[in-house]
Amino acid sequence: MTRVILAEDDPAIAEPLARALGREGYDVQVHDHGQGAIDAAGQADLVVLDLGLPDMDGLDVARALRNQGLTVPILVLTARADEVDLVVGLDAGADDYVTKPFRLAELLARVRALLRRTHGEPADEDELHAQNIRIDVAAHRAFQDDRELHLTAKEFELLRVLVAAAGTVVSRDSLMREVWGADPNGSTKTLDMHVSWLRRKLGDDANAPRYISTVRGMGFRFESPGS
Ligand code: CA
Repeated sequence: MTRVILAEDDPAIAEPLARALGREGYDVQVHDHGQGAIDAAGQADLVVLDLGLPDMDGLDVARALRNQGLTVPILVLTARADEVDLVVGLDAGADDYVTKPFRLAELLARVRALLRRTHGEPADEDELHAQNIRIDVAAHRAFQDDRELHLTAKEFELLRVLVAAAGTVVSRDSLMREVWGADPNGSTKTLDMHVSWLRRKLGDDANAPRYISTVRGMGFRFESPGS
């Protein structure tokens, strides 16, 4: 579980923010003093840090964490625009900041972005290639040579999983799990329909496949000659 430390002494901010972070599925620990946050940060995946804490300056909290060698991402909450210069200019070790009053949705988006940056997929998975197919995973776009493929969300996922495993068979079970997950609309017949639609968009022929081969009794393989 992703652990978030929220160092904020104002309950009018800390309480709703802690609830919102909890709803996002994070394990949230609220600290109203800087020292408590410093003591607990070793176990945290992210620290949301108010600059005006009763016992110490938030910038000193950030410095203390970095001096301990902690690389945990720090998102600073600041009430004053001129404090932004301090956060950025003094290089206290903060990764991003949000000025108060902030929109909850914006803060949550920053939190997700910081967590993605530190726990995200390895960079080499941002773009996938096989034959003349290129998938920009982050942008959710797929190309055949320079032509963009117009895929539905499920077709895109299916292609992504197959291309990521190009040259090897992906079992029907794994495809169901990775593409449909807990989606109740997923069935083995749905899988076959989507493979068929994907083949059509790729201009592929099931009887003489250039891209997606059916491996009887197992699953499907995205062909990758030479790999
Ligand atoms: Ca404060």
